Amino acid sequence: MSMEISPQFWRKCSNCKKEIPYRQAYYQCNVSTCNRKRTGLVFCSIPCFEQHLPGARHRDAYAVEELAPSQEQWQKELSAEAAASSTATALSTPPAAGPRKIIPTQRPAQASSTAVAASAEFEVLVVASKVKDYIRRRSEMNMSAEVLQILSHHIRRLCDEAIDSARDDGRKTVMERDFKR
Ligand SMILES: [Zn+2]
Ligand SMILES: [Zn+2]
Repeated sequence: MSMEISPQFWRKCSNCKKEIPYRQAYYQCNVSTCNRKRTGLVFCSIPCFEQHLPGARHRDAYAVEELAPSQEQWQKELSAEAAASSTATALSTPPAAGPRKIIPTQRPAQASSTAVAASAEFEVLVVASKVKDYIRRRSEMNMSAEVLQILSHHIRRLCDEAIDSARDDGRKTVMERDFKR
């Protein structure tokens, strides 16, 4: 049951089968049953993610941007799992491997312009302290850092739709009405 590891690409898009290279952004479903480690669904794009929704019947699903591991990391993960499953009988808790989440706040302050372009996809677009305050004021709850990623993701998506709407209208300015369609 060993999984072949390809030097050319990490995994294939679960929808269109396009190859997702190592260290490239991809999308996961937030629903846990869709995103089990190793066997989980991975998508090359938001449209591909959306195509699994009708069949999946999720109540509230969204795509989560992730970064594919490097070949080295991937190799390590697979062999760690193989070792774990060959010895482990009690696997009630998942292995305590570190999360593969990208943490954009760890970008060096003096990132080169290409690094900025590559990370723009993951940039946080909201003011963390304000969102935190808002949640705190409304509910006295805390907020996990990933919330900022999700919110930013929704904002990007809304903006992308608004851009399309403005473009359809032949405008070069995105306007309020573009968010109301
Ligand atoms: Zn795809
Ligand atoms: Zn799903």
